[in-house]
Amino acid sequence: MAQLVSADTAAEGRPCVDTVVLQPTPFCNIACRYCYLPSRSDTSKMSLDTVRAVFTALFASGWSHPWLTVIWHAGEPLVMPVTYYEEAFALVAALTPPGIEVRHAIQTNGMLIDATWCALFRRWQVGVGVSIDGPREIHDANRVTRQGRGTFDKTAAGIRCLIEEDIPFHVISVLSTRALQAPDEMLAFYRDAGITDVCFNVEESEGDHISELFADGGAEARFRQFLGHFWRKSREAAGIRFLREIDGMLTRILRPDEAAGENSQVQPFGMINVDCHGNVSSFSPELLGLKNADYGDFIVGNIHTDSLDDMRRSDAMRAMHRDIAAGVAACRAECAYFSVCGGGSPINKLTENGSFATTRTSFCDLVQKVPTDLILDALDRLETVLDDDMLVRSAS
Ligand code: SF4
Repeated sequence: MAQLVSADTAAEGRPCVDTVVLQPTPFCNIACRYCYLPSRSDTSKMSLDTVRAVFTALFASGWSHPWLTVIWHAGEPLVMPVTYYEEAFALVAALTPPGIEVRHAIQTNGMLIDATWCALFRRWQVGVGVSIDGPREIHDANRVTRQGRGTFDKTAAGIRCLIEEDIPFHVISVLSTRALQAPDEMLAFYRDAGITDVCFNVEESEGDHISELFADGGAEARFRQFLGHFWRKSREAAGIRFLREIDGMLTRILRPDEAAGENSQVQPFGMINVDCHGNVSSFSPELLGLKNADYGDFIVGNIHTDSLDDMRRSDAMRAMHRDIAAGVAACRAECAYFSVCGGGSPINKLTENGSFATTRTSFCDLVQKVPTDLILDALDRLETVLDDDMLVRSAS
């Protein structure tokens, strides 16, 4: 039977920052029904001084991974002008020392994408992710304006513009109960729209948002059925080139032993997450902006007043790391999926179980277990076919 590689843990020691998540603004131009962001009407903006302070401190620390991803996220990043990103990207490039490669990525609702944005994406080779939940009826059930109107037409227009301008992109679709019942409809939609790279997020409970999907139970079984069907059908005909839940998981299942269990969300400053005021957090990006008395609202310092080293030693960082590490240790001891997961998502543990120092959440079933099981089942079937084929050849 196909097996997962054995688990290992990332060594303690100096931080290795592979991802910086920046919040150019908390403001979002729409109000999705499942959105957990508490400040989406706040129009504050991250200054270029804050951008400069983040990268000056990071590169001076020597903690940056040689391949650094900078994700502009939280709120709708494209409500900031194109010129803001031109200046910010140029600033980061000027500060980046030799030997470090920075790749910018933007996650957007796509409604404001036009040829000018595409020119920026092309010039800076920005990784573009567009949030679209499927065909109009499914998308517009949740992704709405503040007046409750659907946003499908504008998002679809943004995607058409990306395709016309030949800008590579992927989509992230949040799967609601309705979408989980319609894998063929979802697949037909992506094909008709020219969407080739697809990521799924099952609608979860995060922050103040409580997912309806989990109220009546059976989310794991429904997602297993959906993903298995979608994967099979998408491979039977051309169209879908990358399915994150399968293709992304495959690389984690097949990676070498020494890389097993890596998870930057559970390492202090594996990720550095900065809000528009320069407040710094780490671990799950979704923690930034949430309130919590035990962990100082998850803020470890401010980039304008504190050094990264001081933040690493702060009470909030120590308290979070202590509890997150306890959860990871428990995961390592008891979970068969640890080698692909590395201890999960702290935000899910805190939201669902009330503590970082815990193990299983819906994230485990949906993000780790279902894709891993489907792949291992497929590898088992392949092994059987190859064994039968060998038997036939040796008998003839
Ligand atoms: S799948 Fe869940 S229980 Fe298993 S290692 Fe990941 S977070 Fe821990």
